[in-house]
Amino acid sequence: MKENYLDELNERQREAVTHINGPLMIVAGAGSGKTKVLTTRIAHLMRNGVDAFNILSLTFTNKAAREMKERVEKILGGSEARNLYIGTFHSVFARLLRAEAHRLGYPNDFTIYDADDAKSVVKTIVNELNLDDKHYKPNFVYNRISAAKNSLMGPEEYQLDHLVQQEDMRANRPLIGKIYDMYAKRCFKNGAMDFDDLLFKMYVLLKSFPEVLHKYQHKFKYIMIDEYQDTNPAQYEIIKLLGAVNENICVVGDDAQSIYSFRGATIQNILQFEKDYDDVKVVKLEQNYRSTKSILSVANEVIAHNKGQIEKNLWTDNTEGDTIKLVRTMTDNEEGKFVADTIAEQKLRNHYENRDFVILYRTNAQSRAFEECLRRKAIPYRIFGGLSFYQRKEIKDFVAYLRVTMNTRDEEALKRIINYPVRGIGKTTLEKTIVLANEHNITMWEVLERAREFGFKGGTVEAIEAFVVMIKSFQAMLTTHNAYDVAVVVGKSTNIVKELFNDKTTEGLARYENVQELLNSIKEFTETPDEEGELLDNKTMGTYLQQITLLTDADQGNDEDSNVVKLMTIHAAKGLEFPVVFTVGLEETLFPSGMSINTREELEEERRLFYVAITRAKARLWLTHANSRYRFGNLVQNEPSRFLEEMPEKFIDRSYAGGGSVRNAFGSGSTSGWGGGGNMGNMFDRMQKKTPGQPVSQPSSPKPAPRPTSAATTHVPTPGFAPDDPAEMEPGMQVEHQKFGFGTITAMEGAPNNRIATVVFPKGGGEKKIMLNYAKLRIV
Ligand code: ATP
Ligand code: MG
Repeated sequence: MKENYLDELNERQREAVTHINGPLMIVAGAGSGKTKVLTTRIAHLMRNGVDAFNILSLTFTNKAAREMKERVEKILGGSEARNLYIGTFHSVFARLLRAEAHRLGYPNDFTIYDADDAKSVVKTIVNELNLDDKHYKPNFVYNRISAAKNSLMGPEEYQLDHLVQQEDMRANRPLIGKIYDMYAKRCFKNGAMDFDDLLFKMYVLLKSFPEVLHKYQHKFKYIMIDEYQDTNPAQYEIIKLLGAVNENICVVGDDAQSIYSFRGATIQNILQFEKDYDDVKVVKLEQNYRSTKSILSVANEVIAHNKGQIEKNLWTDNTEGDTIKLVRTMTDNEEGKFVADTIAEQKLRNHYENRDFVILYRTNAQSRAFEECLRRKAIPYRIFGGLSFYQRKEIKDFVAYLRVTMNTRDEEALKRIINYPVRGIGKTTLEKTIVLANEHNITMWEVLERAREFGFKGGTVEAIEAFVVMIKSFQAMLTTHNAYDVAVVVGKSTNIVKELFNDKTTEGLARYENVQELLNSIKEFTETPDEEGELLDNKTMGTYLQQITLLTDADQGNDEDSNVVKLMTIHAAKGLEFPVVFTVGLEETLFPSGMSINTREELEEERRLFYVAITRAKARLWLTHANSRYRFGNLVQNEPSRFLEEMPEKFIDRSYAGGGSVRNAFGSGSTSGWGGGGNMGNMFDRMQKKTPGQPVSQPSSPKPAPRPTSAATTHVPTPGFAPDDPAEMEPGMQVEHQKFGFGTITAMEGAPNNRIATVVFPKGGGEKKIMLNYAKLRIV
């Protein structure tokens, strides 16, 4: 047992921890020890005779709950901590509901439906009602039902609520209430609760059964809630009910980190707390223990641009630390490469381990470029929250078309797409196809090609033939078009892109963006030379598929504490801290999101999200943005994020990283260069002027880059490229290439700073065109 646990706290923290009875609210900025106070307070209560069984502590992630238990155990020793009720709202309420579900008519071992299950039920009902599920999209309907439940609105209330009905009428979907009603009944009949039911039914239980409410009010004598700013109305009401008797509620939060208003969470909960209870003790924590002075100064200044925050004066005793590095790259791929290179360099230079790094982005779709670059450098990583890009269903489905186009024997891929999007080749047909293929010892594809001969009839045979013709038309393109062109036609002909585009729910939009991102990656693949500097001759669909298949095979491991670089959205990073943080994609329309700049409220939430991102960093922070990136199939030029202008210059080093080369920052340390951002023509001109006759590659040796002295001379380390002097190379020379082995130069072409060598590699696949700026080519 740790005797001196109170000594580890500052005075204000100690005051909060030792406040035992009565409502307590801790509002404090990031990294000020809120979670630490909460954990220590649990231990302190137990030390002062409170039974672990009487403590309920609610967190936002299971990981946070686990860590909390561990920390309490560390302070107290022994195993009492296991009797605590600590967990997420959903996990704790699921546990309580299991004990009480029979009162609501549910079996105690009720099933929990995930979002996919739930949407599938919605879809079934929509179809049963003879409604068009393209209009009543399961996703959309499910989100409406979810929002209703989180506002504690049951099906009857929903159908009677004037405003809600008006909204549905305006959206031209007046029957959502009816669907909600049938959905609730169906789930009930199936003995199932969805995620939102775990809150909603908990509330109904406590409201409808006074004896149950009484029981839990007395059981949970002490209630603690972390990240209170993000509780939604359902959570808020349940807590109010549970805490009503003892009023020993301790809430911990930061209004500046409220980032879930789109899910119905409201900062009002924090502001309301003092009004809900008498004699609320309010503690403000102002010392930040997490971050360097530089990081904290930037965070403070950024959030000061929001109106109406609860005033806080967050300071730190920590060292000033390194400046914040603001790095601009030409493209999103270069952004990925820069981050991967910097991680490799920082590991060498500052002895960081993989686990010390996190890459934070606004949307899951952005992970792709980082995944590829990390993988290329053999840096282990894991994507948290959300599947790895290539494991997402919409990506797998799309890629399955490409796979079948390349190889019709690929049965796994064929099964995936044979009826996706729905084309009337049902389960029975699929099963029959499989049986026939086995009987005749041929592939499924061959059965489909000879569908009439095998006795398929009517609409089925038409659907099959149309499918076969479509795949064959894709195949015909393979020899005449590049991978990107083929993929675009696949997206169009199958209707996949259009279908996703028409789904306007948040998840539908995310899926659409993911597919666009996949198309972008194929486009970039076809247009840019790869690391070995090969030109287009090797940019086939086959090469592309192989490349991404290998990516998919990357074992990400399930151990959350394994030594890997972490990739996650900023939302997922709430409450966490890392020695080194990369916040990427800081561009207008991406961050702040283009969908969240229409009102001050939306913009301020984006800014709070940026504040959360910055304050995850303990020691080092990189902020990156690309001049251009592929979005929605086009190369778009993005202005730097407006948030970047809100940061104090004093703590920032600006630089430019691009093309595998080291460059000085443009714009001589002033901010004037930023406003216009993204004139590529100009940029190329300036680059060319900078490098006449000089090699633009830099040695890949671990020689550390010089320390930055000012914004104007910041150097960006870019390991990975071998030193070449293209000027020396001429036809007839013997060279060695990392991948293709030894060869002979047969021709040289291109501008002095962009030389291209034609080399014959006898053992490496014959003649290749090699871009010397990119290639690892050595004269032998
Ligand atoms: P967030 O707002 O991001 O959730 P927080 O306010 O919950 O942050 P914690 O995560 O509890 O902050 O603490 C931030 C870091 O500061 C942790 O590493 C914690 O161990 C450390 N810390 C907190 N208080 C002290 C203290 N009094 N002395 C030393 N370290 C402390
Ligand atoms: Mg915290």
